[in-house]
Amino acid sequence: MRAVDPSGSAHPAYTIGLIGAGIQGSLSPLLHTRAAARHGLRCHYRLLDLKEPGTAGAPELVARARAEGLRGVGVTHPCKQSVLPVLDRLSPEAEAIGAVNTIVFDAQGATGHNTDGTGFMASLRHGLPGARLDRVAVLGAGGAGAAVAHALLAGGARRLTVLDADPAPAGRLAARLSAGFGGDRVRDAPLTTLAAVLERATGLVNATPVGMPGSPGCPVPARLLRPGLWVADLVYRPAETELLSLAGKAGCPTLPGGGMLVFQAVEGFRLFTGIRPDARRMLADLATAV
Ligand code: NAP
Repeated sequence: MRAVDPSGSAHPAYTIGLIGAGIQGSLSPLLHTRAAARHGLRCHYRLLDLKEPGTAGAPELVARARAEGLRGVGVTHPCKQSVLPVLDRLSPEAEAIGAVNTIVFDAQGATGHNTDGTGFMASLRHGLPGARLDRVAVLGAGGAGAAVAHALLAGGARRLTVLDADPAPAGRLAARLSAGFGGDRVRDAPLTTLAAVLERATGLVNATPVGMPGSPGCPVPARLLRPGLWVADLVYRPAETELLSLAGKAGCPTLPGGGMLVFQAVEGFRLFTGIRPDARRMLADLATAV
């Protein structure tokens, strides 16, 4: 028999949230609440926005969410590392990446997970099933770049190069990945060598914000795009970024960022509810919203 929640609804209810800055336009509430409804659940989704007047820092928001009985929270920019000190445990992926995008509260405490990397790999396998992982370039060494680079290496990338406008985070990320996967598989390279790196690459991931409405443009000169190079953008709004448009015209197989958003939410939904939702229906939900 179906449990009855305290509101009297026949649909069991739970509350989750999202911690981050400038998250009022997030698509996560839509993805989670629609998937929940398909499983006979009522998901209340709260936005815990750092930029709202009077809101506390990320660790305080985690503590508040836990105290108020939320089942868990998603975590987005710029909080993926600043929440780490208040967590009780980390999943192996979150530990290796050094950042979390999902926190689950239960009797054992607060556990941090990172579903960004596995979400990217699921999207890559779904959207570009034949993508060769011989030599992959990851542009952008922030939180998203770190998660994707880790997942690519765990998923079989033979050689991976990290580039960033700032060489320091690229160097730190390459050193961290080398420790786990071996220095012969990972290196960092200055942005000035992008042309040489892409000449030999089989794949390129844009893990910078360039292409979003707030950072318009293309992070890679169009002349470096060629058939034989698959191009993935983590930016998901707009669905077709300038990079993907130029890459498509150059004959590159392309992968928009919406797939990663959906597949990381698929895994987040499973962590919150124990149920694996239908990714295809969540992709359709996203398509109607973007
Ligand atoms: P972040 O922490 O700000 O990292 C971005 C990095 O890229 C920074 O180190 C930045 O350097 C560097 N960068 C900026 N412009 C560059 C350029 N033209 N060339 C080379 N490097 C450049 O951001 P993030 O949290 O990793 O997110 C990156 C992007 O991924 C965002 O657009 C975000 O929306 C997207 N994302 C998508 C998903 C998804 O599910 N699809 C999930 C997570 C993130 P500076 O700091 O020096 O500028």
